[in-house]
Amino acid sequence: MTDLTQLTLEAALEGMAAGDFTSGEITEAHIRACERGRDLNAFITATFEQALEQAKASDARRASVKESGGEAGKLEGAPLGVKDLFCTEGIKTTAASRILGNFTPPYESTVTANMKAEGMIMLGKLNMDEFAMGSSSETSAYGSVVNPWKKHNRLVPGGSSGGSAAAVAADMCLGATATDTGGSIRQPAGFTGTVGIKPTYGRCSRWGIIAFASSLDQAGAIAKTVKDSAILLDSMAGYDPKDSTSLNVDNGNWVDACETSVKGLRIGIPKEYTVDAMPTEIQSLWDQGIEWMKDAGVGIVPVSLPHTKYALPAYYIIAPAEASSNLARYDGMRYGARVEGENLIDTYERTRAYGFGAEVQRRIMIGTYVLSAGYYDAYYLHAQKVRTRISEDFRNAWEVCDALLTPTCPGAPFEIGRQLNDPVTMYLNDIFTVTASLAGLPGISVPAGLDQDGLPLGLQIIGRALDEDTVFACAGALEQAADFTAKPEKWWL
Ligand code: GLN
Repeated sequence: MTDLTQLTLEAALEGMAAGDFTSGEITEAHIRACERGRDLNAFITATFEQALEQAKASDARRASVKESGGEAGKLEGAPLGVKDLFCTEGIKTTAASRILGNFTPPYESTVTANMKAEGMIMLGKLNMDEFAMGSSSETSAYGSVVNPWKKHNRLVPGGSSGGSAAAVAADMCLGATATDTGGSIRQPAGFTGTVGIKPTYGRCSRWGIIAFASSLDQAGAIAKTVKDSAILLDSMAGYDPKDSTSLNVDNGNWVDACETSVKGLRIGIPKEYTVDAMPTEIQSLWDQGIEWMKDAGVGIVPVSLPHTKYALPAYYIIAPAEASSNLARYDGMRYGARVEGENLIDTYERTRAYGFGAEVQRRIMIGTYVLSAGYYDAYYLHAQKVRTRISEDFRNAWEVCDALLTPTCPGAPFEIGRQLNDPVTMYLNDIFTVTASLAGLPGISVPAGLDQDGLPLGLQIIGRALDEDTVFACAGALEQAADFTAKPEKWWL
């Protein structure tokens, strides 16, 4: 039998439907791949035994559905990974932070509940930056995730969903959940040669996802192909009355959209995304992407998003402000870690000093500062105004185009440790992704080429709110033209 870990999610689902192999078999193959890939440190918690049980139940379900002539779930029997930011009932959930200690949620996030209802087999909980704050998956209390690409200098897989991206790139799971607050799905996808979709804000319920910055956080998927990412998103998204920002709208025909013609669409090229010190390789890949889209029958239009340069500064006020408030709940009183002190305040202080890593502490301090009396107007209120302007920039662009094409990241994956003590350089990783987050728009990263060191580079499509159909169509066209078949050499085996 062919190596089942090489399959796409789409092919795996077809293979199970045709009876070529069982969920038990493909789950076992992925568990072996996970065990052999331990050095990548992609998982925080493995749930292999439960996965095998789930696979057995899935095979039985598939057989009985077949007998009754019904339809199998959208993910029936597929072994997948879940970022450790999604609460999973009865399974330790850490947000890669010491402050959560041995927290085991008594409930399931809506997104993972939806996926389980569609037949997902969960292999385990994936490593990430602590509380999803970071662009390299190095701030995890469980150690850095290693990018499967390139052996000799150990590279970061991007972040914060670095465990999700590394596990998918290394064929340890058929796909994974991820979350994006400023770029955490798209940037790690760009760094690992995988596809990362962040839908419109409100498509996926945030209920049961550990909060970072609530007005920006959005769940999505990392997958091997554009179509796989559409299959995953389709099983994750949907209205949830338990999240007040959940949108009561139907999913699009995302899986079909991946193969829809893009002829006649207009793609905008934002001039502000040509930034200083961007490697020429990224500029040439972008130019190449423009040519590919033209060949697919798309009209290319230059557009201007004049407030782009304020996006990162605004993000680094708004996101920490919301984080400082969301993270106030970790006080050692109700759940998670607790370090006893001499009195209540001392217990709070010791618990939080022990439990939060340096980057999270930095965010809490910045956030508390920008929200404090006297600074609120100067920083927070200004940042909110900038956010409105950024949304207006996009609205103006949609007058002349249907989607935008940009690079995903301003550079290639870098070495572990290189940017960790330089927060500003680290924050610049999100320069092309953070704008869509601030405006709540859907964005996808598609692997499009390799740099001169053989490392993957991605291109991004950003679309109108709720127009994932167009985003998937453009991403499908880009994927077909780029024909990216490179895979990391499996040095860890
Ligand atoms: N890198 C950004 C940050 O550190 C975005 C992270 C994310 O999208 N969760 O905040």
